[in-house]
Amino acid sequence: MSSSSIRNADLHCHSIVSDGTLTPEELAARARANGVELWALTDHDEVGGQRRAAAAARANGLRYLTGTEILVSFAGETVHIVGLGFDAEDPRMQQGLADTRDGRGPRAREMAEGLAKVGILGAYEGALKFVGNPALISRTHFARFLVESGHCKDTPEVFRKYLTEGKPGYVPHRWASLKDAVGWITQTGGVAVIAHPGRYKFSATEEYALFSEFKAHGGRAVEVVTGSHTPAEYVEYAAMAREFGLAASRGSDFHSPDESHCDLGTLPYLPEDLTPVWELLADRIQ
Ligand code: AMP
Ligand code: MN
Ligand code: MN
Ligand code: MN
Repeated sequence: MSSSSIRNADLHCHSIVSDGTLTPEELAARARANGVELWALTDHDEVGGQRRAAAAARANGLRYLTGTEILVSFAGETVHIVGLGFDAEDPRMQQGLADTRDGRGPRAREMAEGLAKVGILGAYEGALKFVGNPALISRTHFARFLVESGHCKDTPEVFRKYLTEGKPGYVPHRWASLKDAVGWITQTGGVAVIAHPGRYKFSATEEYALFSEFKAHGGRAVEVVTGSHTPAEYVEYAAMAREFGLAASRGSDFHSPDESHCDLGTLPYLPEDLTPVWELLADRIQ
């Protein structure tokens, strides 16, 4: 199949190597069952699952692009940059990601101290039980612990009450810079993609700055159809892709059958007039 005939690409999801609950093999089988033609596993700040994912894609007859989702601090917000089609073995990518993962352990301990102050004890150890990769302990793992221990009914409630700005378990963090994240991706042969732009609380001016700076650093695509966007946002960010001359990406951001409302490969296709990001990566598809 040539890359231009692909419609059902899912280029954003998470495994137990970051904060998902399925293995790369389970995700590949689920993607296949849902009719996905081209898949990428995009664990947060981590490429440790890439070999397994590529092998599982091959075993399931799926085309594959390497992937990751890098957290970036920009204008007081955390912006997510997806990287696709890079060389996951390249030390520049591996070292960059290792550096950005570094602060997670101390941050998690601080989060637990904040929760202890409001009477929730043992949250660090509790979160660790849900962690597949100790270097990637995240708010999602704390959320699973708080649900399991009966403090909240589901993960959205945990984030609302405990894990967002101003709440007892929230600890701000300095992530990678936009320039570095886009640099690691492009220097290692990949394409950088702004993930779910509809999710950031930016003014129009800040959003314009994000898109402009992203492009100036070598970024080439934006997620238009994602599980984090409303249909109105598909239209809005399709227009941004046209305005900024960016290719478009599509991905569910699937984390878990129990927590994610959007399954692998089930979103609408990209608008026909946009350039799919996988056309820029035809020679990187495995
Ligand atoms: P961290 O990287 O530790 O800041 O954790 C962020 C992760 O938490 C994201 O990757 C999402 O998977 C998850 N997350 C963020 N906000 C929410 C929310 N409001 N409801 C559920 N999950 C969320
Ligand atoms: Mn996540
Ligand atoms: Mn994200
Ligand atoms: Mn994601």
